[in-house]
Order: sequence, then structure tokens, then C-alpha cells
Amino acid sequence: MTTAFSGIGVYGARPVAIGKAFVLAREPLATAETIAPTQIALELQRLDNALECARRHLEEVRNKIPPSSPVHLAEFIDAHLLMLTDSVLVDATRELIQERSINASWALQMQRDTLVEIFDQMEDDYLRTRRDDVDHVVHQIQVFLSNKGTAESLATADISGRVIVASDLTPADAILLRHRGVAAFVTEHGGPMSHMAILARSLDIPAIMGVHNAIQYIHHDEVLVVNAETGTVLAEADGAILAHYRAHLADAEIRRSGLQRLVFEPSASRDGTPVVLLTNLELPEDVAAARNNGAAGVGLYRTEFLFMNRAGLPDEEEHLATYLAIIRGLDGIPLTIRTLDLGADKPAPLYISGLKASTQINPALGLRAIRLCLQEPSLFLPQLRAILRASAEGPIRLMIPMISSMSEVDQILSLINGIRRELRRDGVAFDPLMPIGGMIEVPAAALMAGALARRLDFLSIGTNDLIQYTLAVDRSDDAVSYLYDPLHPAILRLIKLTIDAATATRTQVGMCGEMAGNHHYTPLLLGLGLREFSMQPSALLEVKERIRCCDVPALQQQVDSIMHQLDDLDQNEFDERLKALSEV
Ligand code: PEP
Ligand code: MG
Repeated sequence: MTTAFSGIGVYGARPVAIGKAFVLAREPLATAETIAPTQIALELQRLDNALECARRHLEEVRNKIPPSSPVHLAEFIDAHLLMLTDSVLVDATRELIQERSINASWALQMQRDTLVEIFDQMEDDYLRTRRDDVDHVVHQIQVFLSNKGTAESLATADISGRVIVASDLTPADAILLRHRGVAAFVTEHGGPMSHMAILARSLDIPAIMGVHNAIQYIHHDEVLVVNAETGTVLAEADGAILAHYRAHLADAEIRRSGLQRLVFEPSASRDGTPVVLLTNLELPEDVAAARNNGAAGVGLYRTEFLFMNRAGLPDEEEHLATYLAIIRGLDGIPLTIRTLDLGADKPAPLYISGLKASTQINPALGLRAIRLCLQEPSLFLPQLRAILRASAEGPIRLMIPMISSMSEVDQILSLINGIRRELRRDGVAFDPLMPIGGMIEVPAAALMAGALARRLDFLSIGTNDLIQYTLAVDRSDDAVSYLYDPLHPAILRLIKLTIDAATATRTQVGMCGEMAGNHHYTPLLLGLGLREFSMQPSALLEVKERIRCCDVPALQQQVDSIMHQLDDLDQNEFDERLKALSEV
């Protein structure tokens, strides 16, 4: 019998997928058991076997790292391989098994706790990162000791065509899963604008988030139909349902190839209003996707990914090498590099001192993004210097996330001026006219858009955070996702305020939040005056198609009238008026 589960659907150009479930359970692997003295030798042998399996597994992962990956991925795995033979971990665990007559997994856990306690007390930032490595390695050995069906690791298993079902997936997990043919993601937690959701959209892999108890009810290897448009997962679908969705997949493929005809068509509305279409970039490797969809540039490159799945901070040269590789890939179209936006939904590695993510009561309102960067010069200055140096090699814009006060802008501009002086003194090339812009992501910034527009070269509206902060709705929390409403009158007013303020000062203004990539909102945003949209590559042609059908002056009139009556329209009238925009 077909069983349906529901959650929050997230998708790029492909809302539907069919594939076998790959259930990734992360329940605690170590439970305490005492063992008889006669079992000790056997338990030691089990530990040796698990160590050997973990070693083989890590070597296999290492061999599968694509040559284009940054070197630190291999270093990361080498560090874990070394740990498998480290006496502090292995010998101590053996002794615990022998002395206390306990099972290997529990002994390992005890030794892990001892080590973590020591690492936590260390002053040295780098050494503190070893704590995460210990966790990783211990978990890996425990997986092999547990001998469960869940032991397959995502890193090496054949997951092509599979639907990954997990309690939660981190952006770092998503990076490991990309380009391995995953059909879809189903997670028990996570909101529609969580970083994982954004990554899924950008990888064009449909995801259903917030499917409670998915792990309990979905069986490994059973065929699932994922429909992110309706937010449903169907298990044990019968032949008729499967045939229906297979036909849907075939139609969608035809439509997608049809859209390709638009790649070289001008991006302008029916009445000839030009509209700039840019893409968001998560990883340097995705540059090709940006180009293939005919983007005029990158409106948001999220640099946080430089900090994931690794130990230690990237230095100036690594930043520079990454940016130069992207510039080369973009072949002359502009690149907007957003400075680090670590914290909250993009967890910062624990070793970044000053950010004790685990001790922040409310990380979204805490030391994140530009606040963290301004407090941590070791984090920020190498990036700023690298961006300036890269500006000599291609068209670059620098963009600051999470601005909430003018004093932050002043501090950044003064830091940048200081770097310019240093570079000039040292005879290092950079573009003195590189545009510097800021993101409008908190209501305070939208309300001060006029002042920001006068101080900065461009503004970009980050609706993912703007909605979260304006409506007080955690973007990553599925429990409140029903309140996450891009069409809330308060959001529309803040967007309009920002666009009007920028337009009045002739400052460029765009939007790089997910709202820009949803073609249902395109007429409304055009009517609000938006002329620059940045989105996941897979959405670009659909948005372009929509733009080319719109009459912008007529839309502007209608949206003006809606905005004037915003307080008087009831929900039905409001919905009807918005719906009517798609006909204009
Ligand atoms: C946003 O907040 O809208 C945005 C584009 O930034 P991010 O999603 O990376 O927080
Ligand atoms: Mg943001």
C-alpha cells in the first residue's frame, strides 16, 4: 500500500525524483555493555577489524577525491588515517576493554570523552580543531563496530540514483554528496531557507525537509517518489503512481531542453525593459552551470564553503587562488564575492576563536557574518586582501553580508582603504574602482537603505535573512516554516523601500535571496522596480522566460496600486491581485 509522508518541498528546476531510499541513521552507536573475561580477546579482535575497515574506507574516500578538489580535503583524510594508529586513541581503548571488561564501542567512547575534554581546554586554536577530528574518527570506527545496516557511509557508498533519507544534513554533507548522482534528499529537520535547502536548489536536487520520523518509517532500499512541488514523499508507490510520475519526469525533461533556446536570447521584458540576470555560486566548481544558463555574471558567491570540511583557516593565497580560478571560469563576466557569512545557519568551525557557536543562545542574532569578521582580523584581512588582489585580474564586486549599522560600513571601508594603501606601497596590482556593496538582510538595513546607498556602490536584497529577521521566523526551523512568508506586507514594503532608496540615489540594487529565483514572484518584483535578479543557475531560464512575457510599465502601475492598498486588502483580494499580475 502506498504511504505518503509530507514536509517542506525545496527544488530548483526538477521538483520530482524517483529512487531507492538510502537511509542514513545517526542514532548513538555506543551503548555500555560489560563483557565476560572470556570475550575480551574477541572484543579486541572486533576492534582491530573495525580499525582495519575504517582504514580501508578512508583510503577509498581519499582515492575518490576528484583531482579538481582543493588539496586540504586529502590532508583532512590523511589526518584521520593517522589517528587510526595513534596510541592515545587505540592503545588506551584496548586497555579500557581489558581493565574494565567493557565492549569496544563503549571503551572508544570513554577515550573519546577524555580526549575531547583535553582538547577543549587547549588555548591553541588549531589544536582545538583536533577535537572534531577525534569525533569523526571515533564515529567512523563505531560505525564499523556496530555492524548495522546503517553502517554504510555516505562518503563511499554508491548513492547514484538514491534518495538520501537522514535526520539532518549539513551543508558540508551536501558538498560531499554533490555530483554523485543523488536523486533527492529527505530530511526530518530543516527549513525552506536553511543552508542545506539553498544548496539542494543550487545542485538542482529536490528535497523534502521536515518529514518527521522519516528514518523510522522509511525503509532502506524501498522505492520512493519525491514530489517537492507538493512536499510529499510516497513509499511503496503502486505501478500506476510510478507510471504517472515517470511520465511527469519525461515531460519535465522536454520542457527543460525547450528552455535552452532562451540561453542566448536577450534578457528583457516584452516592452523592452532590460533586466540583469545573475547567478548565485556556492562552489568554484559550479562556474560552468552559471555560464551554461547564460548568466550575465555572478551576483552572489558564498565564500563560507571555503571553510567547510577542513581543518585550519584558508590563508590569503588560498583565497586568491580560488577567486582567480572562478574569474578564469567566468570568462569576463563579473563576479560578486560576498565576504564571509559564517554563523547561524552556516555553522563556523569551532576553532574560529571568538565564535563559540555552541554557547550562543541565539546564533542568528549573535556574532555572525560581518560582526564576526570585524572581530577576527585573522579571518577577515586575508580575504579582503585576496579580493582586492583578484580585482586586478577580472571584474569583481565585493559584497558585505548582514549589515545592521553604518558604523560597520565605516569600519569595513576603512579596512579596505588601509589594504589599498598597503598594496600600493608594495606595488601589488588591484582595481581601485572595485565596487563595494552591502546586503540588505536585516530590517534596520532596509530602513537605512538611503544612507547605505549613498555610502556604497550597490545594494543587494537578501530575502532569506530579511524574511527571517523581519518576521522573527527561524529560516532553518521547519516548525515555524508556515510563518515564513515572502509575500508578507512588511516584506514587500521593505523591498520597495530599498529599491526606491537605491533608485533615488542612482545606486545599483539587486536581489540575491531565493525569492529572486522563484518565477512566481518575477512579475511582482519587476513591478516593485527590481531590475537585477541573482539566483541558483537552474532557475535562470525559467525566470527569463517569465520576464520576456511581462509588460513592465503595466506591472509597475498595478503593483503601485497594490502597495497603496496593502492595509485595506483582505487576504483573498490580495491573493487575487497578485495572481492577476501573472497575466500582465
Ligand atoms: C539571504 O540572506 O537572502 C542571502 C542571499 O544570504 P544567505 O542565504 O547566504 O544567508
Ligand atoms: Mg543571508
